[in-house]
Amino acid sequence: MPAAASALAEPVAPAVVRVAVPRPLRRTFEYAVPASMPVPAPGARVRVPFGRSKALGVVVGSAKPGRDGLKPIDEVLDAEPLLPPDLVALAEWLAAYYHHPIGDVLATMLPTAARRGAKAQAQPQTVWRAHADGTSALARAPRQQQALAQLAQAGGIADDDLAAAGISRRILAALREKGLVAGHHTLPFGSDAEAAALAAPDFQPTTAQRAAIEHIVASLGQHRCHLLDGVTGSGKTEVYLNVIAEVLRRGRQALLLVPEIALAPQTLDRVRARFGAAAVLHSGVADAQRFDVWNKCASGQHRILIGTRSAVFTPFARLGLIVVDEEHDSAYKQQDGLPYSARDVAVKRAATLAVPVVLGSATPSLESLENAHRGRYASARLEERAGGASLPAYRVLDIRGERLDRGFALPMHAAIARHLERRGQVLVFINRRGYAPTLLCPQCGWRAQCRHCDARLTYHRVHAQLRCHHCGHAQRAPATCPSCSGEELAPIGTGTQRAEEALAERHPGVPVLRIDRDTARSASRLAADLAVVASGQPAILVGTQMLAKGHHFPNVTMVAVLNADAGFLSPDFRAPERTAQLIVQVAGRAGRAERPGEVWVQTFDPAGVHLAALIRAGYRGFADAEREQRAAAAMPPYAALAIIRAESRRSEAAQRLLGKAAAALAEAAGVEVLGPAPAPLARRADRARWQLLALASRRRNLHQALTRLEDAALKAPGVRWGIDVDPLDAY
Ligand code: ADP
Ligand code: ZN
Ligand code: ZN
Repeated sequence: MPAAASALAEPVAPAVVRVAVPRPLRRTFEYAVPASMPVPAPGARVRVPFGRSKALGVVVGSAKPGRDGLKPIDEVLDAEPLLPPDLVALAEWLAAYYHHPIGDVLATMLPTAARRGAKAQAQPQTVWRAHADGTSALARAPRQQQALAQLAQAGGIADDDLAAAGISRRILAALREKGLVAGHHTLPFGSDAEAAALAAPDFQPTTAQRAAIEHIVASLGQHRCHLLDGVTGSGKTEVYLNVIAEVLRRGRQALLLVPEIALAPQTLDRVRARFGAAAVLHSGVADAQRFDVWNKCASGQHRILIGTRSAVFTPFARLGLIVVDEEHDSAYKQQDGLPYSARDVAVKRAATLAVPVVLGSATPSLESLENAHRGRYASARLEERAGGASLPAYRVLDIRGERLDRGFALPMHAAIARHLERRGQVLVFINRRGYAPTLLCPQCGWRAQCRHCDARLTYHRVHAQLRCHHCGHAQRAPATCPSCSGEELAPIGTGTQRAEEALAERHPGVPVLRIDRDTARSASRLAADLAVVASGQPAILVGTQMLAKGHHFPNVTMVAVLNADAGFLSPDFRAPERTAQLIVQVAGRAGRAERPGEVWVQTFDPAGVHLAALIRAGYRGFADAEREQRAAAAMPPYAALAIIRAESRRSEAAQRLLGKAAAALAEAAGVEVLGPAPAPLARRADRARWQLLALASRRRNLHQALTRLEDAALKAPGVRWGIDVDPLDAY
């Protein structure tokens, strides 16, 4: 094919484009555009020769024409750029801010199907809308009548969504014949008919909600970051929905980010009930479907997108608002590959597009609180629960010297029994899945240890297995001690399975439902368990932090926190913040108007500053105290932090590479470099792990240091290394 191109005599120098290729390379490459091809705009995908193979890259810009010896592009895939200008700019910002290879950035942003070269074309979809009122005509056809009412209420239902709405083709055909419905190609933007079709709830916003709504609405059309700080159940979602309604009325699209879709089914239901349709993106959406959603957001066909982390990279024709729900949630931070924070990217993207972004949480991150404090974010607060529900009261249970039954102090069991007797539901929070965190031989002190990691194996009794939660290694639990043949191997500590066992034994006849990553794998089991909870009968829910997210459990009258100390005492500087957030979030699941809740916290350290601050002054008081601590220690948000991590089968090789990295970083001014030191989990899956911390009081200094590190182009055989800017886990 290149022969054909060179056969054409060209009087002018060919255009040159800069292309990012999906390789972990910290640079772009220039290619010539043969005269036979249209010059691809930034954001278009192109097929290019790369090394000895081919690559599918993305054009990020142009370069001066006239350079000789450039390889020509093989093919231009997109006549219209796949990525709109704001996403091309975002890609370059991501590469610069996170000091991450641009090719890898683009690979992260694009759906798999797009990376494989799938054609970007939103299949034009028919949207069915009610055209006339058929109440009288359909008196004898109740199913048609119902379908018509649904279409009218939703303002229109897309072809794809008919089945989910329970409207069959036959019923639709009948309605069409009677002239009661008609198909349209897309939802026209901002039509009055549609705005009128939005179903409003049957209550009025509270004064606080109205203030927040008006404030945010007043900023539509410009960039403003709002922190919506409101206790669980205070009506934040209601605020989002009201603002989204206004965004749609103005003919724009809205993006709602949530930490995890499986845990937010109620939010999804509410959005769909209110607006008829909302597209969804999360890790469970298949590749082809994902790309389809992408394209329909780009074309403007989808008006609302609800999605997890990576949905922040979706192109939109006319985005008018981004909402980040539960902005403090660590699920927004990607841990591998490009370590971006979807919350921070959302703020950046909103700035690029000049639209407002709303960060909502009952327990805002210290970063966002600090931004609000400095006046960079507008802050709106909802202090009270909507609908008059009251907040739960805390009880601290001092367990020093108490005998524990599988993790429970006896007064805890008694309190649980009291609540069950009064027909309440009880939620038990324990931050460990599995049966017991480890298996111990009391005779010789042997502990079950992962042979691939510096970590203990967790005992899972259900399968009589020992499992490593770090590398996935699993083995049969031995019947006798592998070291001394002792026969009394004992589980030590309490995980969710063991708590479940203890609760079932102590409270016979009451359903005990376990919700953790092991049980949530089955969506049907989760749904069945949630149905039991929703029925309102006395029940005990036991689970990990999954319980802290999304769900409302209106009949829960007691929350038990088994082990708060572990979190507060962890060496990670963010651990107290995360633990306080978890406790407050779990506590927020309890109680409603007529049934106020109680939160029981077991602790060996009842006078501990963190817990005491939390109980005395709530999350806000805790956060103020914790911000002072961070300022005194010069840690984020009062300093910019990056971690450089390296891992290798050969420990010295990783350590040596980080030694060189430390030297490169130290050349820059204003940066404190700590390490190299072994990572908290010093060996995982047979690879030694090392890390290096870089701290600077000015972000610019950190960036300069990291740029030097990139320039040093460090490499060592068998060593993988990467930069994590604004890391979540740091010691
Ligand atoms: P959050 O998102 O802060 O947890 P939600 O918006 O989900 O709060 O509201 C909690 C509950 O209160 C929901 O059932 C919601 O329908 C209800 N609610 C919200 N706003 C009001 C209001 N102004 N009046 C009555 N009920 C409300
Ligand atoms: Zn032994
Ligand atoms: Zn392991």
